[in-house]
Amino acid sequence: MFPETRLRRLRRTEGLRKMLGQPLPGPEKFIWPVFLREGKGIDEPISAMPGQSRMSAEVLLKKLEPVVASGIGGVLLFGLTSKKDADGSEAFSEKGAVQRAVPLIKKAFPQLTVFTDVCLCAYTDHGHCGPLNPAGEVDNDAALTLLQKVAVSHAAAGADCVAPSAMMDGQVLAIREALDEEGLTDTLLMSYSSKFASSMYGPFREAEQSAPGKGDRQGYQAPYNDLRQALRESELDEDEGADILMVKPALMYLDVIQQLRESTDLPVAAYNVSGEYSMLIAQADRGWGDLRAMVRENMAAMQRAGTDIFISYWASRYNELLKD
Ligand SMILES: [Zn+2]
Repeated sequence: MFPETRLRRLRRTEGLRKMLGQPLPGPEKFIWPVFLREGKGIDEPISAMPGQSRMSAEVLLKKLEPVVASGIGGVLLFGLTSKKDADGSEAFSEKGAVQRAVPLIKKAFPQLTVFTDVCLCAYTDHGHCGPLNPAGEVDNDAALTLLQKVAVSHAAAGADCVAPSAMMDGQVLAIREALDEEGLTDTLLMSYSSKFASSMYGPFREAEQSAPGKGDRQGYQAPYNDLRQALRESELDEDEGADILMVKPALMYLDVIQQLRESTDLPVAAYNVSGEYSMLIAQADRGWGDLRAMVRENMAAMQRAGTDIFISYWASRYNELLKD
């Protein structure tokens, strides 16, 4: 009790604050999500995500050089295509942007862990994460067959980890079985296990040109006002054989990260999504906050909640924003 106890003694100097505080996560804990386009020489800035762009493979290789040199642990690839159809079949084409880029990245940066997003929404002409039934609803079980093909094509190209994000029931089990059947038993599976129907994905949809034409994704993504259901999603994915679980978005769901961290022994990744990225940039641009200070506080919050793996666009600016 005061006056004997004075907590300010513990934080009086920078040396003490550093000694007693938890250091920020190192670059090896970070995964940089990137958007890949078919073609060559493409470096298209994403207006809603300043500092990020849609790139062709060789442009990405160039941009990866300083990022890999900063010690970033992984990259998460999202593909784009101009050839969209009802099934999103370009998502499992051997000549797709992701399938072509993976071996190039692995060759140039063998130490970098390559993750690939496994979904259909950037490849379907209707923008949903699975094919539609005659009633216009996403057909869960038909989506599984397609997602299996996507995952196998990524793993066969050399991806270290496939990451299904469609929120279809049974997708983890279906993909694990398909990988094992093809002898791809070493390929990791990171599930977007507790993925919420969030309003924070707006800038990403511009980046991926993947907004659904009609309807929304509330029929398959988890509702943000039902914590138990979101946790069950992760429990089921663990039972189905996921190697890594994920909470997405991160900052508005720190309670979910914390509860998941306590209830599982699997690694827990958190996806610091586009809206969480762009809002800090917008704030800093208006002079309403210091970007470096805000990013550091955001990452520390994710860490305190129990995040093991940080999927974040800030990964490409680690040295500038997060290094001491
Ligand atoms: Zn999707």
